[in-house]
Amino acid sequence: MSKGSKPVSSHVRGSGDFVFDMRALGKRPGEFRDEKRTASAPDGLGSGLVLVPAGGDVALDLRFEAVSEGVLVTGSAVAPLTGECARCLDPLTSTIEVSFQELYRYLPDPGEDASDGEERFLDGDYLDFEPAFRDAVVLALPLSPLCREDCPGLCAECGAKLADVGSDHGHGDKVDPRWGLLAKLEINDRVED
Ligand SMILES: [Zn+2]
Ligand SMILES: [Zn+2]
Repeated sequence: MSKGSKPVSSHVRGSGDFVFDMRALGKRPGEFRDEKRTASAPDGLGSGLVLVPAGGDVALDLRFEAVSEGVLVTGSAVAPLTGECARCLDPLTSTIEVSFQELYRYLPDPGEDASDGEERFLDGDYLDFEPAFRDAVVLALPLSPLCREDCPGLCAECGAKLADVGSDHGHGDKVDPRWGLLAKLEINDRVED
């Protein structure tokens, strides 16, 4: 009977798509390992018009190299991207590629300040690459994604998609002469004797 078995922890150290086991490097500077892996994209990557869909396949191509302070990670990742064209608002799918050069340091000795904030640290024998991946993707997301480089966008008058209606689309019949309306500024100066 297994009534005494403990529930499995939801956060198992050393597991996870972005966690890599560094034991093979043995903390020997110069030693390296290349790893290719397909990982599941984490939640919440992206904002506004574009995002990396959670669970999408992220192709990781990484080299882990032992250096004296820790492990240097170089390589690249390619992730799917979905969003909306900033000009014509059509849905778009694309990919984003980011490259890395990240130093993960061994945990500092007791007494040494680890709360620098900017630095990344190994967790024992494991390296969690997700924070580095996340930061790189957020920086690389396009601010104005386009369905294609020369997307003509929408007609400012009627909202028609110019790619569909053609370049001769226009509203020539609707002349809108602008009468110069000049606001007259009346200044009432009251001079009191
Ligand atoms: Zn477009
Ligand atoms: Zn129009």
